[in-house]
Amino acid sequence: MRQISAEEITNNVEKICIDANYNLGDDLIASLKNALEREESPLGKEVITQILENAEIGRKEKAPVCQDTGYAVVFIEIGQEVVLEGNSLQEAINEGIRRGYRKGFLRKSIVKDPLDRVNTGDNTPAVIHTDMVSGDKLKITFIAKGGGCENMSRTAMLTPAQGRDGVINFVVKTVKNAGANPCPPIIVGVGIGGTFEYASLLSKKAILRPVGSHNKDKAISSLEDELLEKINKLGIGPQGLGGRITTLAVHVETYPCHIASLPVAVNIECHSHRPKSIVI
Ligand code: SF4
Repeated sequence: MRQISAEEITNNVEKICIDANYNLGDDLIASLKNALEREESPLGKEVITQILENAEIGRKEKAPVCQDTGYAVVFIEIGQEVVLEGNSLQEAINEGIRRGYRKGFLRKSIVKDPLDRVNTGDNTPAVIHTDMVSGDKLKITFIAKGGGCENMSRTAMLTPAQGRDGVINFVVKTVKNAGANPCPPIIVGVGIGGTFEYASLLSKKAILRPVGSHNKDKAISSLEDELLEKINKLGIGPQGLGGRITTLAVHVETYPCHIASLPVAVNIECHSHRPKSIVI
């Protein structure tokens, strides 16, 4: 067995939530540069240029790339041979978020109660998803999820008869209805299968893949390509000002489902895509 202290988890969470908000990933930057070359609309080009300049300012000046520094969503993969020392895993993560958002001067965006709307003041609690895996390591993946793009995400329970075409129609309609609201160019995460809640989780996991990567299953990979083409034909364009590049990537993840169901979830991610991972 390997012992990992709660303090070590807290310190790492503190570090990666600041890093994620200041430094966009190399995969996203490469995808945006590629989009700049392919975009034909002058306004669209200007928007992507400004997004890239903004990313550079965030990196150089150690400043958040967007004023909405997001809901802290944390995925944990914990090895079966790990023993935690000290605080609970949940408290260790929340303390890291608390410290990171304070030290990094990141906006606190969480309200304690969805109806009374009083801010918790420290961006906690995080939404935490935990998976038990083999081994003696602990992997932490943090993503700062913006409210604007999360609000445009949708889940549907289709009938099996609606099939592949039904999935395509739902995904494209969801992006079309979102329009400029999720700050395009976006990344579209799609979860197909499982149950109502599991499809949504899959769609969020899908956006964590490297931007533009393909599902290993050829049929799903071809669905990703078809969705990418159809979404980019909508003409919404960067920041909704028109153009070819509405989405940088479509990532689809699937899971077995009930014979009577076809759950589909679309998690929309904005151009301020801020995931970071660390393995302890
Ligand atoms: S949707 Fe994304 S880019 Fe737009 S305001 Fe929210 S966090 Fe920022």
